Amino acid sequence: MLLYSTLDRHHRATFLEAVARGIPPGGGLYLPKKLAPLPGQLLTQDTPLPFPEIAYLIARSMLDGEIPDHELQAICEDAFAFPLPLRQLDDTLAALELFHGPTLAFKDFGARFLGRMLAYQRRGMKRETIVLVATSGDTGSAVASGCAGIDGIRVVLLYPEGKVSRIQELQLTAVAANVETVRVQGTFDDCQRMVKGAFADPTVTRALALTSANSINIARLLPQVFYYVAAWRQVNADDRGVIFAVPSGNLGNLTAGLMARAMGLPVKRFLAATNINDVLPEYLRTGVYRPRPAQSTLSNAMDVGDPNNISRITALFDENLESMRACIGAESRTDDDTRAAIANAFARYRYVFDPHGAVAYSVADRYRERHDPGAKFVVLATAHPAKFPEAYGGDLQHVIPLPDQLRGLADRPRQVLPMRARYEDLKALLMA
Ligand SMILES: *Cc1c(COP(=O)(O)O)cnc(C)c1O
Repeated sequence: MLLYSTLDRHHRATFLEAVARGIPPGGGLYLPKKLAPLPGQLLTQDTPLPFPEIAYLIARSMLDGEIPDHELQAICEDAFAFPLPLRQLDDTLAALELFHGPTLAFKDFGARFLGRMLAYQRRGMKRETIVLVATSGDTGSAVASGCAGIDGIRVVLLYPEGKVSRIQELQLTAVAANVETVRVQGTFDDCQRMVKGAFADPTVTRALALTSANSINIARLLPQVFYYVAAWRQVNADDRGVIFAVPSGNLGNLTAGLMARAMGLPVKRFLAATNINDVLPEYLRTGVYRPRPAQSTLSNAMDVGDPNNISRITALFDENLESMRACIGAESRTDDDTRAAIANAFARYRYVFDPHGAVAYSVADRYRERHDPGAKFVVLATAHPAKFPEAYGGDLQHVIPLPDQLRGLADRPRQVLPMRARYEDLKALLMA
């Protein structure tokens, strides 16, 4: 697979180079130069295939020999060894449960694949690779878990103090030998700025082998392409077309869906659902991209004021706003809307969405009512509701089962390093 940079169309990297670097040398983001069409058998044949097999078939076609088949197959089987249920809630609406991995959020897909790709890429190298991540909650624990125990990898995680849930914090700070967790006195955008500072600092990048694991790393995006295909195969029983509702923050999930569509997946429309951090809906409405500081909400993993995948999305549409509008509908929801959506889904279906999935459910439900009652809707349920007990009243808290992944979490040893929101402090830690 050859990739280019959104800032330099002539730049070229192989997949493994892009994985190792995270970000192209001159800035920008990596995107595949050509998106290989999906293997035909995935779009025509309706025999059920296990998810790791679907993943392998797509990865093999995209990577085009860069990793030997048997290695790639083993990586897919190991990375995606957890269930991916599609819950049909009524005739036209289903929830794709992406939260059955070790940290109970969809980010496990990308992080586990990335961890294994890094391990493959750095085999035989002497210098350790540092995975540097800013997290608004779920990324950090997914990356830490996805890279835990992988030889030669040191993970440095930054998260904003007071901006993640109690359970997210427990997950983030539970000790793994090769993971350092940093609690920054600032916002997620501060964390992201500090991480970007390190990548832009030649003293650091010359001395250390740094890579990113945010949704900016291309290895994080690929597995997200796989599950759109897997979901489509299950719901596309007739020709009504599938509409995906995507809870959106940094727009990695949406970008992967758009890539799947560009590879031939027949998707009718994407509904990008944000909380009040509504930079994308505003951009699609006005044509003006106006980044701003993030505001805290119930769906905190979507509290993003300057979504880092926006340049991938505009590149996929050749900067054409009209074609973006034709394919993506974007809407925002308040915390009150989110609570109402959680209550509504429970009353209707006895189904509990987490606050992120609930934002997408709310957008999907209204779109269905107003515009397209006949289409099939898949809401991406991005996190397990048990991660966000503070979002539910007592009545609902009781019906949420405690997943195995959370048992005993509060008793694990933990370690965290407080830090001011200053790049110099991060640099000192990295260079120490
Ligand atoms: C990260 C996250 C999102 C947002 O996904 P993006 O790819 O950043 O748009 C939504 N829901 C949950 C639970 C998340 O962890």
